[in-house]
Amino acid sequence: MDPDVLIIGAGPAGSVAGSLLARQGHRVITLEAGTLPRFQIGESLLPRSNDILADAGLLDAVVARRYQAKNAALFLDGERRERFCFADVFPGQRTQTFQVPRDDFDQTLATAARRQGVDVRYNHKVEAIELARDQVSLSVLDLEADRRLQLQARFVLDCSGYGRVLPRLLGLEKRSEIPPRVALFTWVEGDDRPPGDLEGDIWICIHPRGAWAWIIPFSNGRTSVGLVMPQSDYDSVSGCDRDRLFTLLHEDPNIHLRLRNASPVLKTVKLSGWAAAVTKFHGPRWAVTGNASEFLDPVFSSGVTLALESSSIAAGLVHRSLSGEVVDWDVEYDGAVGQAVGVFKVFVRSWYEGDLPRILLNPNKHGAIKQAITAVLGGYVTDKNNPFVRDAEKTLAAVVKLQ
Ligand SMILES: Cc1cc2nc3c(=O)[nH]c(=O)nc-3n(C[C@H](O)[C@H](O)[C@H](O)COP(=O)(O)OP(=O)(O)OC[C@H]3O[C@@H](n4cnc5c(N)ncnc54)[C@H](O)[C@@H]3O)c2cc1C
Repeated sequence: MDPDVLIIGAGPAGSVAGSLLARQGHRVITLEAGTLPRFQIGESLLPRSNDILADAGLLDAVVARRYQAKNAALFLDGERRERFCFADVFPGQRTQTFQVPRDDFDQTLATAARRQGVDVRYNHKVEAIELARDQVSLSVLDLEADRRLQLQARFVLDCSGYGRVLPRLLGLEKRSEIPPRVALFTWVEGDDRPPGDLEGDIWICIHPRGAWAWIIPFSNGRTSVGLVMPQSDYDSVSGCDRDRLFTLLHEDPNIHLRLRNASPVLKTVKLSGWAAAVTKFHGPRWAVTGNASEFLDPVFSSGVTLALESSSIAAGLVHRSLSGEVVDWDVEYDGAVGQAVGVFKVFVRSWYEGDLPRILLNPNKHGAIKQAITAVLGGYVTDKNNPFVRDAEKTLAAVVKLQ
């Protein structure tokens, strides 16, 4: 029997959408081009993602993995530092989340999705789509059997992340407003971590050259470290990518102290040009979610949380559409996702223009401003009680004037 929904990709967006739909009684097949576990970047979650994982019946499986608890985001610039503790978010919002090695996390989610009834098929690469009035058809290459198959469903959700399957096949690609940057990253062992509740904080360090670095500790003793910079910073140092990364990291006094006894345990990865956008998020019988739709920048660790947010909204709308309800996808999907992404877009722009770092690192912020910023940093970008969610641009401009 044909499934109700075909999902492209078994990353976090695909597993959440699949689980939510299977829990509503829909037949779901997820097609994953690779196998899990596999390396993926995007290791620091935001508290909001825990709400969505819970709704999808996936949080218990995640908790059972005993990932490093993350209580706060710490911004550091030389001697200045400011900690945004999730305990200070608004009532009803979560105060903690996790730092997750994505190989293990994505496999945990996909396995838990399978237990909820999703038929996850690995080594199945989606190559083409055909849209008809009452169904959608995908051409799929079974990479193990080296055989092509045709699968039909009533709806397809594209959760293919960096694969961007439907944006490519349907000509939806749009240039992102965020200028391209370069990231170099690896995992290390032996970093000097702060004690107790501070251990799991993400460190976001403003580098003396104006680049920024992340430090994300895992519970397995490893720590993810990465640097995001303009191409000119990358070109200004020589050597292999590992040498460039560590030369630049050790220029920052905070990172130097933390990493002075650490050694890399992963080949350094270089990425660039990750920002991407689409002309629209849905059409008849299809929708794009997560990184397959829009991805901005890693600075606020919003990628996975926004991927879960968009895929959970999409799953709810697919359920209602398949149940015969008329759904206004323009408003309820494109509008809602665009609004959530838009809050982070304003934050990302202001980060690179320099206003936001000044606000974040100012120790004399009013408590209410800090609370509202903490809620955004916690991923709560659909809560209209927050002035940054109602109008990020205007609220940020007002806060800049107060500095
Ligand atoms: C440098 C950097 C650092 C980042 N750091 C963070 C962070 O700290 N926190 C955070 O939340 N986010 C971070 N991100 C973003 C994060 O990587 C993404 O937002 C997240 O992985 C998106 O999840 P997804 O499920 O949409 O896609 P993905 O994780 O990309 O999963 C998509 C899946 O689809 C599969 N697929 C692709 N093409 C096909 C096809 N043709 N057929 C079938 N399957 C296919 C892929 O194999 C993959 O398994 C970072 C990004 C960058 C670039």
